[in-house]
Amino acid sequence: MAGGREPRRRRALVLPLPFQGHIDPMMHLAGALHARGLAVTVLHTRFNALHPARHPEFRFVEVPDGVPADVAAAGRIIDVILAMNAAMEASPAPVRAALASAMLAGGDEEAGAAACLFIDGNLLAVQRVAAGLGLPTLVLRTGSAACLRCFLAYPMLHDKGYLPPQESNLDTPVPELPPLRVRDLFLSPVSSHDKVREVLARITETVRNSSGVVINTSEALEAAEMERLRGDLAGAGLPLLLAAGPFHKLSSRSAGSSLLDQDRSCMAWLDARAPGSVLYVSFGSLAAMDPGEFLEVAWGLATSGHPFLWVVRPKLVRGCDGAQLPDGFEDAVAGRGMVIRWAPQQEVLAHPAVGGFWTHCGWNSTLESVGEGVPMLCRPDAVDQMMNARYVQEVWGVGFELEGELERGRVRDAVRRLMEGEGAEMRERAKVLGRRVADSCLESSGSSRITMDKLVSYILSL
Ligand code: UDP
Repeated sequence: MAGGREPRRRRALVLPLPFQGHIDPMMHLAGALHARGLAVTVLHTRFNALHPARHPEFRFVEVPDGVPADVAAAGRIIDVILAMNAAMEASPAPVRAALASAMLAGGDEEAGAAACLFIDGNLLAVQRVAAGLGLPTLVLRTGSAACLRCFLAYPMLHDKGYLPPQESNLDTPVPELPPLRVRDLFLSPVSSHDKVREVLARITETVRNSSGVVINTSEALEAAEMERLRGDLAGAGLPLLLAAGPFHKLSSRSAGSSLLDQDRSCMAWLDARAPGSVLYVSFGSLAAMDPGEFLEVAWGLATSGHPFLWVVRPKLVRGCDGAQLPDGFEDAVAGRGMVIRWAPQQEVLAHPAVGGFWTHCGWNSTLESVGEGVPMLCRPDAVDQMMNARYVQEVWGVGFELEGELERGRVRDAVRRLMEGEGAEMRERAKVLGRRVADSCLESSGSSRITMDKLVSYILSL
């Protein structure tokens, strides 16, 4: 300690991909690092910008993203990723200037220079700039360990002929990645397969170039997948591969990083409902359905007879900014159904009135449901959601998939199956799994808690 002063705290920089499902885990990770004594600077893009005033404990620096207005307006995640990387590669100087400014010690006396940068795995262009500045990067993987295994295996899956997918092989099992079938292999209905392949090749490169990978998962959920992943990456010379999540259990800051305003009136509505009686319905921040499917969902919920809380966010229905509920729907569900634009999801799932979750199986939603012991009705739409649903049904047994056409009678029956019949067993399993996952984060001997401390020691050693 020079001159009797406290040593300055080390600083971690974080840069999320600007989509809700990527922002949330990065900000939770930032919160967990901050709670363990690190100073944090958040780098963020103008596209889907964050609100610095909601996070007074962090410094913020804007990074020029170069996403063209038409790509930003369309909001397709794969196009935004490719456009951001292309713009940053073509013109790295503004990114370099932003990183260099974030690397400097704060004007405040308390926090020193940056030890490392956490980046989303999709930001290879940023990693290259950071390498030029001598700044080590750690990759945050916002999907599951199984999902990262699938990315690393993509070239092999093409060599062996599983990919690109054909209508005829969608149900073919992939024994190299059990329990996945071809249809579960990170496919996108809205982007070409070549674009998906390019994005995944970039993630693989970012992982291999990094000083470590931190996955938002828990050994309590994916011990076998983590073990296999260590085998897959054995030759890559990665100094660190950690399962340190679910991060939302290690830090709570969901409202602050929400891109849409949360409607909290649903919490009082839930307070008035019987324990375990409500089905929560939400398809995340990006998944969309046709107007006809929307009607079928509405009438399926209405005729199920069960109370429900349904998130109908802008653009949930393709081509509509705000979806129109069908005539007669509100009367049919009066007192039993609530429809809101955006929910405080983690709090909703933790509410005792919630007994089931109809989800698109985004990884955050899956983790949040598992973490609260809530069983799931799965309706995956794209990318990693199909494999998450597969794990929910086949590995953990805490839910089942609603396959095939969305039709009101099938929706009604699926809701009843979850909330009545078999749902009871799934709920019991979900509660046991939820406790194990929560313990891994909260107990002093929990694997994720110990891993997070190990991560902090590693950052301090850089
Ligand atoms: N979310 C929320 N309110 C809602 C719906 C979703 O706060 O009404 C949050 C949810 O808690 C999760 C994130 O949005 O953290 C969605 O991420 P996920 O990976 O589940 O799906 P994505 O939106 O990336 O498809």
